[in-house]
Amino acid sequence: MKITRVGSQASTKGPADWFTGSVRVDPLFPPDGGRHSNGSVVTFEPGARTRWHTHPAGQTIIITQGLGWVQRDGGPVEEVRPGDVVFFEVEEKHWHGASAQVGMAHIAITEVVNGKAVDWLEPVTDEQYSK
Ligand code: MN
Repeated sequence: MKITRVGSQASTKGPADWFTGSVRVDPLFPPDGGRHSNGSVVTFEPGARTRWHTHPAGQTIIITQGLGWVQRDGGPVEEVRPGDVVFFEVEEKHWHGASAQVGMAHIAITEVVNGKAVDWLEPVTDEQYSK
């Protein structure tokens, strides 16, 4: 058993080549021993979102705060709220972020394959985001 204490890992700013707008990432856990996923809390200011991206072995996000928007390639933009759980399938192209007027935070649990958890693609344009 291992307890990682709150406050023991510094917050980081979501880099501009992964995100649009202001995003904070608070790490929870890395892959470790038999665990093949990483966990983090990601907090998006209103209007902030990821780029389009895929995960080599999928990702689960659990909305914890605010109002979020998520979309898979070819699908509609969908609203998500605290308590909603979203699973992105292996290699499914998608994005996630806050709504335009209200921020959003989620826990992300992302499967890691050969040290890689995500492949970043192009930014979500304002036109795509506001649909
Ligand atoms: Mn994702």
